Amino acid sequence: MHFHPLATAILAFSVVGAAHAEAPGADAAARALARDALIVDTHIDAPGMLLDTWADLGEAAPDREFDYPRARAGGLDVAFMSIYTSAGQDAAGTAREIAHRQIDAVEALTARHPDRFAILRSPRDVESLRVAADGTPRVLLPLGMENAGPIEEDLSLLRLFFDRGVRYITLAHSAANRVADSSYAAERRWNGLSPFGREVIAEMNRLGIMVDVSHVSDAAAEQAIALSTVPVIASHSAFRHFTPDFERNISDEIALAIAEKGGVVQVPFGTAFVDPRAAANTQAYFRAIGEFDARNAERKAAGQPLEDRAAFNAAWDAAHPKLETPLESVLVQIDHGVQLLGIDHVGIGSDFDGVGGELATGLRDVSDFPNLIAGLQARGYSDTDIRKILGGNLLRVWAEIEAGAAR
Ligand SMILES: [Zn+2]
Repeated sequence: MHFHPLATAILAFSVVGAAHAEAPGADAAARALARDALIVDTHIDAPGMLLDTWADLGEAAPDREFDYPRARAGGLDVAFMSIYTSAGQDAAGTAREIAHRQIDAVEALTARHPDRFAILRSPRDVESLRVAADGTPRVLLPLGMENAGPIEEDLSLLRLFFDRGVRYITLAHSAANRVADSSYAAERRWNGLSPFGREVIAEMNRLGIMVDVSHVSDAAAEQAIALSTVPVIASHSAFRHFTPDFERNISDEIALAIAEKGGVVQVPFGTAFVDPRAAANTQAYFRAIGEFDARNAERKAAGQPLEDRAAFNAAWDAAHPKLETPLESVLVQIDHGVQLLGIDHVGIGSDFDGVGGELATGLRDVSDFPNLIAGLQARGYSDTDIRKILGGNLLRVWAEIEAGAAR
């Protein structure tokens, strides 16, 4: 989740019809590789949308960017379901409950379609789960928690969410929380990690939960990478190289620290991150919504009526029209990552269902991975290297983190 959830539901309807007409046609070689390769997407915001508006994602759900038929058409095998809670929900004390409800929604999906979906708890289970007993290919659904708000200040909750399937945690989202500072908020409560945040990372290492430094401040990312005894990931971060003053995108220095520790940077498809013009708008939005949420928190504490968040977001959207961002923008990001870090440290974390439909042309939903593959092939990447980017790297890192937990 990168943008405001209320606008997400509204905007999604407006882009679905145009998505495929604009996409460049992927050739047969790209489609064949999409089918054969293990594709792992580390960030899809479907669970939050399920709570906003129910849909059966085992069938065609055209108002979403993730559903089973399109995942299969795109060759997607492992789709990390984002268990996202906002800074506002954390402040309101509802983050834990909302996280549980989102996990319930993913469990309901797998229960309704056991032949099509399964929750993935370990990279070792990919091969045994990826095809159902009747031969139906499954889309596997590991859980990634975006914002550590739901663990409150209680390591037993961290263990509880691990038991429910959470396998990465993005330490913070749009504001400082009990664990870490955010890249978006002016407030730097901890100058990086909190004392509790340091305990959280040690416990995540012990359990085998991946530490995700997307969204956090530079200081928090640096401290988390230094503190972790195993590789860390950035589950959905573009490169700041292209957006110099945008802290949400990862600096070359921090990306190199991730790679040196054996981790991986997962490139998103959202216009707001891969397009410098949109990145400037995003940065301004998160400052504005952070101030809005702070005002509402004060109002709530004072027993006053709250300002309307939907109206705020609608006014923002009206003042900031959507930009057209070519697929090339994502390929350029991947190129930069590969040149900087090497082929073993770059992957993909789309942010589908999390950016209000504001995605690069040709990468509008989970059926579009062949377009990305065709673009990489056109740039001269070998199929072996493309397989690493599509999922091989992430699965290697996850296995290392799991092995670290066993030690
Ligand atoms: Zn996000």
